[in-house]
Amino acid sequence: MYIRLPYADPYEMGVSGSEFVDLFDDISDLPDTTAMWALPGLADCHAHVSMTSLADFDAITTVSMASATRSNTWAHLEHGVMLLLDKGGKTDATLMMLDHDADLRPHIEAAGAMVHPIGGYYQGFGAEVEPDELISYIRNSASLQGGWLKLVGDWPRKGQGPVNNWPLDVLREAVRVTHASGAKVAIHSMAHSASEAVAAGVDSIEHGPFLTEEDLRSLARRGGAWVPTIVNMLHLRDMLGADSSGGRMFQDGLDRMRTNLPLAEGLGVTVLAGTDMAVSPGQVATEAALLREYGLSDSAAARATTTNAFSYIGRSDRPTIGAEADAVFFDENPFDDVGVLARPSLILRRGKVVGPHDD
Ligand SMILES: [Zn+2]
Repeated sequence: MYIRLPYADPYEMGVSGSEFVDLFDDISDLPDTTAMWALPGLADCHAHVSMTSLADFDAITTVSMASATRSNTWAHLEHGVMLLLDKGGKTDATLMMLDHDADLRPHIEAAGAMVHPIGGYYQGFGAEVEPDELISYIRNSASLQGGWLKLVGDWPRKGQGPVNNWPLDVLREAVRVTHASGAKVAIHSMAHSASEAVAAGVDSIEHGPFLTEEDLRSLARRGGAWVPTIVNMLHLRDMLGADSSGGRMFQDGLDRMRTNLPLAEGLGVTVLAGTDMAVSPGQVATEAALLREYGLSDSAAARATTTNAFSYIGRSDRPTIGAEADAVFFDENPFDDVGVLARPSLILRRGKVVGPHDD
């Protein structure tokens, strides 16, 4: 197949079984891609595939998590998502997604149960761990097996507004211990916990509307990631009502994004596209368009939704001989117009055509 990436010279490879092979060894009967543009796949870097909506929170069981995981990972795949970073669930059972048939899901890295102190997130959801127990929790739990620890950094308390969940020294030690076991730390920050999280060395800031310029400089210097989830910020603002105190906080955050996104692009911060649970699985192109609308260039918004994510987790940003035969093809160049990401014309996972899905 002909592989024309927006950021490299075109080349040809064959497909045999689930892998790309030398053209000479091609035994596939795949469509002609000569006129198309190729990407290694889309990436949704803030998903929760063990759930279908926030409304399910109370009713989640291991059985419901299993069935949601199967249907949601497949829905991502048939829209061209080849890489998912799942940022946690109700329990560590969310990690069962890593054992599912690779032909039927994207490549996945995942956090186990989301970690927060009592009162620091939705009650009864995730692992409730007090700051003085956090380090031993990290050392002893199975949560890190998917490659990520997910902390909740701040949460509103009645009459106080948002409060940071972790002292800085605890956060620093949590990052050190997690890194020592080979995993990364992501933190939910909707208010002002982002600066301490950056200072503590947290790998990925989720949401992060109140990141400062100095935080962005620091993230850029050390290769840290920022997953703005604009589509989810808009969803939460509308759900709470634009005139409520929560709704106003989200609007303030969205206004900040318009300054911070161009700044992040200029500084070279690894911005990643994530949808949280604001749109149905596979719709990460919606976030790509919003990243563009809120100030990234078309190519930066496209990179945030594809190559940045592959590079960030240490995978190749291009289809390669010997690797799984994953690629997504488009009729136009998505780096010139990020809207193209919503219209793939051919989706290949492990050598098989799995989409596009007709919406
Ligand atoms: Zn989330």
